[in-house]
Amino acid sequence: MKSIKSVYKIGNGPSSSHTVGPYHAAQIFRERYPEADAWRVTLYGSLAFTGEGHGTGKAIKSALPGAEIIFDLKTTDLPHPNTMLFTALKDGKELGSKRIFSIGGGSIRIENELSDEDVDVYPQKHFSEILLLCREKGITLPQFIYRVEDPSLRPYLEKVWQAMQDAIRRGLQAEGILPGGLGVSRKAKLLYNKRCYNESADVTMNRVIAAYAYATSEENADENIVVTAPTCGSCGVLPAVLYYMQHDRGFPEEEIIDALAVAGIIGNVIRTNASISGAECGCQAEIGSACSMTAAALASLYGMNIDQIEYSAEIAMEHNLGLTCDPVNGLVQIPCIERNAVAAMRAISSVNLSRFLYETRKISFDEVVATMYRTGRDMDEKYRETSHGGLAQIYYGGI
Ligand code: SF4
Repeated sequence: MKSIKSVYKIGNGPSSSHTVGPYHAAQIFRERYPEADAWRVTLYGSLAFTGEGHGTGKAIKSALPGAEIIFDLKTTDLPHPNTMLFTALKDGKELGSKRIFSIGGGSIRIENELSDEDVDVYPQKHFSEILLLCREKGITLPQFIYRVEDPSLRPYLEKVWQAMQDAIRRGLQAEGILPGGLGVSRKAKLLYNKRCYNESADVTMNRVIAAYAYATSEENADENIVVTAPTCGSCGVLPAVLYYMQHDRGFPEEEIIDALAVAGIIGNVIRTNASISGAECGCQAEIGSACSMTAAALASLYGMNIDQIEYSAEIAMEHNLGLTCDPVNGLVQIPCIERNAVAAMRAISSVNLSRFLYETRKISFDEVVATMYRTGRDMDEKYRETSHGGLAQIYYGGI
């Protein structure tokens, strides 16, 4: 498995695969052809269908100013659902071209090339191997992670946590309508301040955590800086719960960083053995993964044992299985923003169940990850970030 740094990427929203990845690809391509005076980028598959709503062209043009962007809606025989063909030109003549794939979570793969992200840091591939090793050595998950990764991991996670907190703080202050034409208003501030009469502590917790999730997801929809966790579309879940635990419940920052590491290893197992891309496996791969990462992080923060951490992550993923990706207008707004808040609450419920029932469980985390991947591959293409099915279709077409 790769470093867990690959799970967390800081960048502009609204979509890790549709803006963070393409922007990164455009930067790399530009460095290869400094003499070029024009660029042509053809987008295929999901990038062609929903790239306009997700701002893919804008993200590419911020690295390749003036680039011609072509949305190829016809080609279907693709090596990856998020395929881009970059072409560099000078005086109208072609200097070179390259196919680059946005493989989810802001990561890219250049056709027929190896990248830094291809370097394996962990000899383990499945959670069961990590579990065995931790038991054998009598160490916790954070201890295992820091032993394997190089010392730059912790400062990196601190930077990630800072960016996550900044997004929540900005999002709680902002008001107005999100871009894209759907007329979706920002709700984080409203939710944060809207205490109801005689509100119980439980209701307050859910309202505040939901407000934090909205804050980050609305920052993402507004194309501002967020952290993939594991993607932009699902970036609100993990920070919401961890922010609440630090700022409303008083957990120290060092423990929050350890919890981020635990969430990272869960995201890493998922991306290694399945997918974190909505275009590849539907929203179960994005929100399901975020929910799973958050449940593991919270269980670890509570000092629960490794079996309880694993079971928390398993429950969180299991009950997101089959979740489709159907963003209205290709915008990461409906159902995405609300879905982040719901997933944050579901992660907490998963931890609560796991605390009491972990000794009776039948399904391992690795099994649920394999199930998610198989389910995603079986899913009709219209439910995999093409905006051709589900809410995306019914919103305009009617029932
Ligand atoms: S529906 Fe889910 S997978 Fe699809 S864009 Fe929204 S958050 Fe991402």
